[in-house]
Amino acid sequence: MIVRLLGTGDSPGTPVLNCHCKTCEDARRNGWERKRFSILVKNAGKIILIDTSPDLRRQLLDNGIERVDAVIWTHPHFDHFGGFSEFYRVQGNVEVFTTPQIHESIGKYLHFLSYRRKEVEVYEKFQISGISFTLFPVNHPPVDAVGVKLEWNGYKVVITGDTNIEIPERSVEEMNKPDLFIADAIAPSGKFKKHMNAKEALSLAERVGARRVILTHLGHFFPPPKIAVRHYPVGEDYQTFSFREGTLDEFLGD
Ligand SMILES: [Zn+2]
Ligand SMILES: [Zn+2]
Ligand SMILES: [Zn+2]
Repeated sequence: MIVRLLGTGDSPGTPVLNCHCKTCEDARRNGWERKRFSILVKNAGKIILIDTSPDLRRQLLDNGIERVDAVIWTHPHFDHFGGFSEFYRVQGNVEVFTTPQIHESIGKYLHFLSYRRKEVEVYEKFQISGISFTLFPVNHPPVDAVGVKLEWNGYKVVITGDTNIEIPERSVEEMNKPDLFIADAIAPSGKFKKHMNAKEALSLAERVGARRVILTHLGHFFPPPKIAVRHYPVGEDYQTFSFREGTLDEFLGD
């Protein structure tokens, strides 16, 4: 099983349009960026996307992905579903998994597309391509939002989704002891109503006993990656985690 971060940016991405802060200027000057949130999971030749970023066309082209087999949506914010029609227009017939409430919200926006809705309840396991998934509610006011747990071959990967630190206790229990913990951290510090900062995300990682933590949904409040990585386990677009029997490898791109 492969887990690849297709986009590690927050909703505007980095660089932010019309922002001339040090980080955004560094991104323009040195040609790096943080695209919007999407995670690719590949197993047994099947491609599953957790969220469909507005940058999806570029992300699929860059990664040589010609077909998507299933989609899981975490919540009805544009930076997490806006790119769905990037591939649905040319492919169609993709099964999309999320809770009935999140389907309803996103469905209003995508009313012109008739995609295949698969309704799943929180805390109930479902299988796609040999991987067991569980959605668990998090706290991202004012919308319904879930995190995602993946279990495969004895490995456990937890993606917090967009959330502040006030996560329901039962969901924190679902996160227990992940091999890889992919956590929302929009800024190094400061209080955010909808998101964790890096300190909060790292304290949550410690609380759940994560073996490896990687921060994502990163805003331009972080310094450029070369500096940020010295202080925080920040993710990078196309960073990839490869799970095989007995080993967890990590590499950038292909
Ligand atoms: Zn987001
Ligand atoms: Zn900026
Ligand atoms: Zn959000």
